[in-house]
Amino acid sequence: MFRSLHRKLVLVLVLLIVSVMTVVGTFLINSVTSYHIQEFRSQMYSVFTGEFILTLEGNAAHLDNGAELRDMIEAYSAPLGIDAYRRFYVLDGHTGAYLAGSDDSYGSDMELTPNILTAMNGTVGQEVELLGNYFDVAIPIRDTDGSVRFVVGVLDDKTELKELNWNLFTILIRAMLFGLVVAIFLSFLLSKTITDPVERLTEQASRIAGGDFSQSAEIESNDEIGVLGQTFNDMSRQLETTLLQEEEERNKLDTLFRHMADGMLAFDSAGRLMQSNPAVEALLGKRLTAESTYQELFPDVQVQQEDLAQDGRSIEVDFAANQRFLKIYFAPIRLEADKQGLMAVLHDVTEQQKLDDSRREFVANVSHELRTPLTNVRGYAETLMSADDIDRETQVRFLSVISSEADRMTRIVKDLLTLTRLDYNRMEMKMEPMDLLAIGKKAVQAMEMEAKNRGLTLITRLPDALPGTVGDAERIQQVVVNILTNAIKYNKPDGSITVTGGSKGGRVFLRVEDTGIGVPKEDLPRLFERFYRVDKARSRESGGTGLGLAIARQIAETHGGSITFDSKYGKGSVVTLWLPAAEGGARHD
Ligand code: ADP
Repeated sequence: MFRSLHRKLVLVLVLLIVSVMTVVGTFLINSVTSYHIQEFRSQMYSVFTGEFILTLEGNAAHLDNGAELRDMIEAYSAPLGIDAYRRFYVLDGHTGAYLAGSDDSYGSDMELTPNILTAMNGTVGQEVELLGNYFDVAIPIRDTDGSVRFVVGVLDDKTELKELNWNLFTILIRAMLFGLVVAIFLSFLLSKTITDPVERLTEQASRIAGGDFSQSAEIESNDEIGVLGQTFNDMSRQLETTLLQEEEERNKLDTLFRHMADGMLAFDSAGRLMQSNPAVEALLGKRLTAESTYQELFPDVQVQQEDLAQDGRSIEVDFAANQRFLKIYFAPIRLEADKQGLMAVLHDVTEQQKLDDSRREFVANVSHELRTPLTNVRGYAETLMSADDIDRETQVRFLSVISSEADRMTRIVKDLLTLTRLDYNRMEMKMEPMDLLAIGKKAVQAMEMEAKNRGLTLITRLPDALPGTVGDAERIQQVVVNILTNAIKYNKPDGSITVTGGSKGGRVFLRVEDTGIGVPKEDLPRLFERFYRVDKARSRESGGTGLGLAIARQIAETHGGSITFDSKYGKGSVVTLWLPAAEGGARHD
């Protein structure tokens, strides 16, 4: 089948051959014609010399007709090249009538050519027209009085030349046909050498378009096509690398998009949902479908297109949904066909909000906690200052209240400082191998008296040994003492406290169980919050600041451990301190 390139090649070669042959043919035929005319002229000049013309004129005076002249010229037939197509003639110099010639049959319709007319006027007629139907020469033969008596001439009707030219023409046509056959054959060869690699490149390009980069185009030559193939292969490799990088980037972005904690939504210009990530459903607490719209998801949030249009900035909106506080940033996105969509980024600020709330609550709590003792101190101090007749006993009572309130404030401030240091990791911890068992025993010892004073039974059921642990023994003891103090403070009359210990799953623990008042279930999650107290009056009465458990948990966590609090309201509580066992788990007795 003729492919386009092949067709073009054939066309170019055919045009080339035809034009070359036409030029060559025209040139050849012209040259042959010129040569022929030249030859005719030189033959004429060689015979009709001035001398010969004078001889003819000398004889002409005595002649009545042209027969003698014809005989004289006939003697030169051979050098004049007279034949069937080239004739000579003798005409009457006045009338131009045919008198004699080489072929009399021709004489009757003898035409007076421009050269004959020139000769009849007395000049040699030797003009030859290249494209005329004949070429001739006519010579006037004068009488003695100078008038033109005869005109002798030779006329060639070009038949010979035409035949020669025709032969040449047919040779050229044959050569051209042969040339065309060769051209078609060559064009096949040429196009094959060009189109085959191009075809291979095309196939390769289609494979690449289909995403198959596994093969590369074969390079068979160093010519332009070879270079093209090489460049194509380089380009394909480059493209593959770029596509891979692009895909990697896209995957990264996709993973980021899917797993980012912030929700992302994109709406088209009509407010229809175009794209969203999984975080959105979790944040809004709604299932998204392909039919979800902006109106449906954010019915109360009116975002004005004009606001967004201004320098493409984003708008920040507070939004509460699904028990969460969200900040939504709306920004315009450019879609195709000059349309503008809307992009929404949902940022969960619930934790931040909670933190802010707890910070505010904390400040309020601190103020409140300090205000009560301060009011008391001020009240008693003012009373002491204003009254003159206060007896010594009342004075001492008042002053002791002032002193105990000052103590209370000192405790609060001390606890707060401890917490701040723990918060900012500024509490110095002497981390060394320690024995939780020994710490437990020491704490129990310290609290035994207190328990006894309150009529409580303190039972120790500690094991013989516990795996070793690492930490600041003094701080840990402070934690255990705090837990024991609470167990005593929030116990019932005649109640008991049991201290046990053990190890489990790479951790060691000390457990304090009491038979006290317990904690209502709903209060359990908040026990470790700063200043949180179930029974405020009881806590304050017993000198509690509401910071003990918060500090204890912070210290435990700084050691990589934790504190768990279990309780049955009205029955008692179980508080457990967990610490990680030291590497190797050395046992201490
Ligand atoms: P406080 O200084 O008030 O004791 P804590 O932080 O030590 O502060 O304890 C917080 C609150 O937890 C206490 O006010 C109390 O209501 C409750 N609590 C702590 N331990 C116990 C316990 N063993 N039994 C009952 N309630 C307890």
